[in-house]
Amino acid sequence: MAYSSMYPELVRFLESKKVQLVAVSKTQPLEKVQKLYELGQRTFGENRVQELMGKKDLLPGDIKWHLIGHLQKNKVKFIAPFISMIHSVDSLALAQVISKEAVKHNRIIPVLLQVKIAIEEAKYGFDPMLLEDNLSQLNDLPGIDIQGMMGMGTFTSDQEITRQEFQSMTRIYKETKANHFADVETFRELSMGMSGDYELAIEQGSTMVRIGSLLFNSIA
Ligand SMILES: *Cc1c(COP(=O)(O)O)cnc(C)c1O
Repeated sequence: MAYSSMYPELVRFLESKKVQLVAVSKTQPLEKVQKLYELGQRTFGENRVQELMGKKDLLPGDIKWHLIGHLQKNKVKFIAPFISMIHSVDSLALAQVISKEAVKHNRIIPVLLQVKIAIEEAKYGFDPMLLEDNLSQLNDLPGIDIQGMMGMGTFTSDQEITRQEFQSMTRIYKETKANHFADVETFRELSMGMSGDYELAIEQGSTMVRIGSLLFNSIA
């Protein structure tokens, strides 16, 4: 048996919940990514532009690549021609650069707004209190389609902390949708949940999970 039954089982579970899987392939060797591709996975996430650029041309061309980690403004130009979604839009300035590059390439790039929800010192993401001030300007940018939000919980074994953080993320997502995207059909994604907390995230309303280690560790 080359593969454990992890992937098909996970996919069946996620499909039953109508949750999309982003397979996080960062640090994984090409052969493992290829194996997951052969099992049917088409959406993969990377957190660093350099690693993504190195892998992309060596893997099948119909993979949908998602950028999930902090993105520096000067790296946007490399991914703008092909990226399927950017989960980590954490400032107005970054959104403006993505907008400019998207227009240059005649594309509409789907993006998510990353929000700081973790009680631990989180480096990246909009402060929920300040998000409101940026939304009208974000909403006016051409070339990007704001399709929802992304949040990361505190790295902890205390499920109660994670549950509360996911709950507040869902509340912020719903409020933002009601106040700014009520008529926008494409604003419907909440990217929340990783290997250690995806079940909790789905309980709290996640529509997209980003799972790496759990998935790839089950591939021989
Ligand atoms: C690495 C990473 C993940 C996946 O983490 P696992 O615990 O391996 O599932 C998800 N989201 C982001 C932003 C990451 O950097």
